Order: sequence, then structure tokens, then C-alpha cells
Amino acid sequence: METKNTATLHGRQFRLLIPTPQVQEAIRQVAREVNADYRNGTFRRPLVLVTLSGALVFGGELFRQLEGDFELGFVRAFSYGSGMESAEDVRIELSGAVDVAGRDVLVVEDVVDSGRTAESLRTLLCKAQARRVWIATLLFKPEAYRGALLIDYVGLRIEDRFVVGYGLDYDQAGRNLNAIYVLDQ
Ligand code: 5GP
Ligand code: MG
Repeated sequence: METKNTATLHGRQFRLLIPTPQVQEAIRQVAREVNADYRNGTFRRPLVLVTLSGALVFGGELFRQLEGDFELGFVRAFSYGSGMESAEDVRIELSGAVDVAGRDVLVVEDVVDSGRTAESLRTLLCKAQARRVWIATLLFKPEAYRGALLIDYVGLRIEDRFVVGYGLDYDQAGRNLNAIYVLDQ
């Protein structure tokens, strides 16, 4: 598939920031790190918990590169706020089918911005008796991050700008773009 240099979503212009091969290499790198940790005995019965909907694309690509006994589950994180603001309130729904008690959980996120969502996920999973929680994110915005804990696996570090593509949306549009695009300002 040909990668376009620009994309228009809900009347706004986005331009190519990270081309597909670079995104794919970042995902391979995360997979290599997780696989190495798995071989070193870091995880016990790991459950990969993909945050819907944004991390579906990254999560799927990452998951099929994992080597070992990894299980797959999903969690929904809803943030309330306008299209481009990181929300103050984060609501998280763990699918009833997933029992995280006693499990080593690897949360897969699309982007860690302020870190509120990642923190809420950790808190919720710890309350649900997860044994340990790791976070893997495709994108990380160091300048925006306000969290206290390290993010365990980072695909790409980016500037504090609004991006779409590879699962990330602007008001539900643009998730299927096969590269990362940044809002043109
Ligand atoms: P945080 O809670 O770390 O501030 O933000 C995490 C969530 O905000 C992400 O999971 C995502 O839903 C949304 N978000 C933050 N930055 C971006 C961005 O640049 N683009 C998109 N599409 N969503 C973002
Ligand atoms: Mg998200």
C-alpha cells in the first residue's frame, strides 16, 4: 500500500511523521525486548492486555511477534474530553472474561501522553490482584509525561504533538492510516 504524505480528517490536515517501515521496526524492537525478558524468566503466565480501541493495531502486530506462552485479553479505556485533549477523567472497563488475579500483565497502549491512563490501568489491575504489571506503548511523549513510574517498553519517542494513524484516531477517523501522521499547525 502506498503511504500518502498528507491526510485530511474531519477537515483538518495531517502530515506524515513516521513512515510505515520505521513504525514496524519500532514494533519489532519492542517484541525483541519482551521476548528477551520472557527468555530471562521475567514473566510468569503473561497476559497481554490490549487497550481498545487505539492499541488494537499495534497490539495485534506485537502479539504475533511474541514467542512463548502469552495469552491475549482486552481492556477498554475511555477518556472524556474533546478530540485532541488528553482527558482528566479516565474510565476503564476490564472485559469480564479476563481474570487477572495472580497474573503477570503486559498492558499494551497506543500512546502514553500525560500518563494518567497508564496509571489508572496499573491501579485497576493491582486492585484486581494482578501479580505484576508492565506497560508497552507504541508512542511516548516524554515532554508531556507526568507519571512517576517508568514505562517499560517504548516503541517511539515523539514530540508533544497530536498524532493519528496506526490505530490512533481523531474523533474515530484515521485509525486505519498505515503510518503515523501529525496535525499540521
Ligand atoms: P494520557 O492518559 O497518557 O494523557 O493519554 C493517553 C490517551 O490519550 C491515549 O490512550 C489516547 O487515547 C489519548 N491521546 C494522547 N495523545 C494522543 C495523540 O497524540 N493522538 C491521539 N489520537 N490520541 C492521543
Ligand atoms: Mg488510548
